[in-house]
Amino acid sequence: MDFDKLMQELPAHVQDLFERGRIASYIPALARVPAHKFGMTLCRLDGSSHRVGDSEERFSIQSISKVFSLSLAMGLVGDALWRRVGREPSGNRFNSLVQLEYERGIPRNPFINAGALVVCDVLQSQLGDPKRALRDYLRLLSGSQDIDFDAEVARSEAETGFINRALANFLKGHDNLHNDVDAVLDLYFHQCALALSCSELARATLHLANRGVAPHLQEAVLTAPQVKRINALMLTCGTYDAVGEFAFRVGLPAKSGVGGGICAVLPGEYAVTVWSPGLDPSGNSLAGGAALEFLTAVTGKSVF
Ligand code: GLU
Repeated sequence: MDFDKLMQELPAHVQDLFERGRIASYIPALARVPAHKFGMTLCRLDGSSHRVGDSEERFSIQSISKVFSLSLAMGLVGDALWRRVGREPSGNRFNSLVQLEYERGIPRNPFINAGALVVCDVLQSQLGDPKRALRDYLRLLSGSQDIDFDAEVARSEAETGFINRALANFLKGHDNLHNDVDAVLDLYFHQCALALSCSELARATLHLANRGVAPHLQEAVLTAPQVKRINALMLTCGTYDAVGEFAFRVGLPAKSGVGGGICAVLPGEYAVTVWSPGLDPSGNSLAGGAALEFLTAVTGKSVF
């Protein structure tokens, strides 16, 4: 398979979708991103990497950050985490308060907002400076030492995060948040505000295609069983309320964010990240999803 050729052909197949998606507008910094932006990077385990378009431009990774905070928390507390968070698809909006109420404060999975807040609470309990630890984890995994939080995005998340605040308080009311509510929210708002490029994210997720070993570090950052679990959660809970459709069309474990990024992995082969800010009604990148569908169709390979 000639991946460079595939990448060069790809934009022509999806560019009609760039203007058809809806750009996240709940904060100004996301609303300003031009709809025509499109980038993609595919890193293979043989060491080659293939990119196209705006692959080096940083964007707000938003909910993709939940993969990395979960990885850190799993390493710190192991299976104890699953007493406080489930691992079933939610079938509801990613910030549903109703679901949290009838499940008595135990979030369905770590990728809905309530679950991610519990994961942040674990990091807050375990680490002296969890914001810095999470940022440094991303720096290590991506190999880029200047990765950082976008301060404007973090501030806006805090200013508009009324539902997240309600979720955190509800968790606290059910004794599933052990730290100060504002401290946990501050960590969550900052993790959403991390800015990385497609190439940085593809490198940062390559260990998920390699049984936990990051090729550029030549060391295991997760165990193979941990990777199995994270990939299983991405496949079943990683693309909002459209996981069935995404598995049907793309067939890869993936995590998306409202900034328009999607990270996906084909275990044993590659990690890929695509970015196009226009979103479909479920909150997944419209052109990004189509690009990944094109990739698995042309290569004839998916996890199925
Ligand atoms: N930062 C937003 C929130 O927590 C959206 C995160 C996302 O789903 O990408 O509400």
